[in-house]
Amino acid sequence: MIVSGIPVSGGTAVGRLVVIGVLKPVDALSSHIIASADEQLTRLLAAVAASRDEIASIAADTRQRMGNEPAAIIEAQLLVLDDPEWWDQIRDDVRNGAEPTAAVWEVTEGVAEALSSLDDPYLRERSADVLDVGQRVIGHLEGRSRTSALQGQTGNVIVAAHELTPTDTLDLDLDVVRGIVTEAGARTSHAAILARQLGIPAVVGAVGILKAASPGVVVVLDGDAGTCEIDPQPRDLDRARAKSVGQTTRTVISHAVTTRDGVAVQVLANASSVADVTRAVAEGADGIGLYRTEFLFMRSETPPDEQAQTEHYMAVAEAASGRPVTFRTLDVGGDKPVPGLQIEAEENPFLGVRGIRLTLANRPVFDGQLRALARTAAAFPGVSVMVPMVSGLEEIDEVRGILRDVTPQGAFRFGAMVEVPSAALLIDAFASEVDFLSVGTNDLTAYVLAADRGNRHLHELYSEFHPAVLRALQLIRAGAGDTPLSVCGELAGDPRATGLLVGLGYRQLSVSGPLVPAVKERISRLNAEEAKRASLELMRARRHRDVDAVLKSMSFED
Ligand code: PEP
Ligand code: MG
Repeated sequence: MIVSGIPVSGGTAVGRLVVIGVLKPVDALSSHIIASADEQLTRLLAAVAASRDEIASIAADTRQRMGNEPAAIIEAQLLVLDDPEWWDQIRDDVRNGAEPTAAVWEVTEGVAEALSSLDDPYLRERSADVLDVGQRVIGHLEGRSRTSALQGQTGNVIVAAHELTPTDTLDLDLDVVRGIVTEAGARTSHAAILARQLGIPAVVGAVGILKAASPGVVVVLDGDAGTCEIDPQPRDLDRARAKSVGQTTRTVISHAVTTRDGVAVQVLANASSVADVTRAVAEGADGIGLYRTEFLFMRSETPPDEQAQTEHYMAVAEAASGRPVTFRTLDVGGDKPVPGLQIEAEENPFLGVRGIRLTLANRPVFDGQLRALARTAAAFPGVSVMVPMVSGLEEIDEVRGILRDVTPQGAFRFGAMVEVPSAALLIDAFASEVDFLSVGTNDLTAYVLAADRGNRHLHELYSEFHPAVLRALQLIRAGAGDTPLSVCGELAGDPRATGLLVGLGYRQLSVSGPLVPAVKERISRLNAEEAKRASLELMRARRHRDVDAVLKSMSFED
């Protein structure tokens, strides 16, 4: 039997199913009901304090292992512990005689439910954080943990759960866990993002998996197709096992790679901290194709000044050890507030003052950042700078004017991201006016399809494999001519897209650091001529399902 869901992290995995359940307040009544309200409050405070220490330590460990972006996901949970809507209510309930585990359970459920029914994808995602924190506090109150089902497991395990929280995902023992399948979740869930960063195949939204599969049964998880096959036929099992072997042995390839017929394709990494850069270099990245500078701004209470920025950018360039680094200027807007920067709340922030529009309206911040980048480039010649969310050449003209005023002439190579359809349609004009271009497929897909990437009702529509997005990619490649062009959205690291992008003529892919070895390996197995033929065939697809069918049937190799 096959249960289908949403593919969120590619690859095939085979293993025995281990179910991670929800910690409910079942034991609470018998063991602790006799305690007084004061004693219960002391228990609760101790459990909250232990949870706070644990979350801080997971965040610190995550920063070391995976960099700032995933660590920030975990740190957001500390805010839940201080949120009056959650904490005050639990404390008051316990003061009024409620049993702490039951109080945490009820208040957490209520707050999470209210958040998950909101339209705003950011607030919806907070619902998972609240549940995660609630489960952790309950675990401390009852002396057990959600992932204890994994203790003592050996061999290959596929974890199944109704929903996996971000810290559950980071708690997984990667020596045994080969894949993740959940009933809830979306492509942009934090657990999905972390699974991709960890390189574990994952399928979410697999409704019915917990009913259909019993713990211990062997399953095949296909993180590309979004399926979980329960108790497969021996022949299917052998095939899946053979497919999964190459993925788990991640051999770092530190040299530049070519396809089998000798076409060079650069594999760069996306990063947002010095630790990300160090790790990307260790994974064999040929450079940094997208450095998201907004994380530096989000981390500090006030916008970092020119000196602090220069020091940070120099540290990034230093960590890249002579490899090229492309810094992207501040990319925020009404959806991603930054401390200390006046950003107006907007009715429609994704179509509002974001990216380059925002920095052009905040000249002191933009000028300071450009000066800091120019100082960095003077010391590190491999530094380039690109601007996000560009929609017309007028913005390029304006930035060029500012560069003339605030930086030395030719301080760095200057490029633009292609993520708004107008830039794709004007691609030849852009190509002749900038030094390089980089396609941001995450936003480009959203704007081509008018579909929010975080909206759970639109996950089928929002797809980088939609024929309209593929045609946009073809158009951009053709129109860019000789101007260097990369792809830096999530698509670049998707295993189904490597052959397609190389076949369309893309020669630079910038992917999440942990994906670099797998992407390099796939490129070295490709035949560029064959990939070109297959990609052109794919371009004939008119419907999304046709693309899926053709992708499944074709090989980009030989
Ligand atoms: C993109 O839009 O594809 C991109 C790389 O930018 P971000 O994901 O940071 O918006
Ligand atoms: Mg973008």
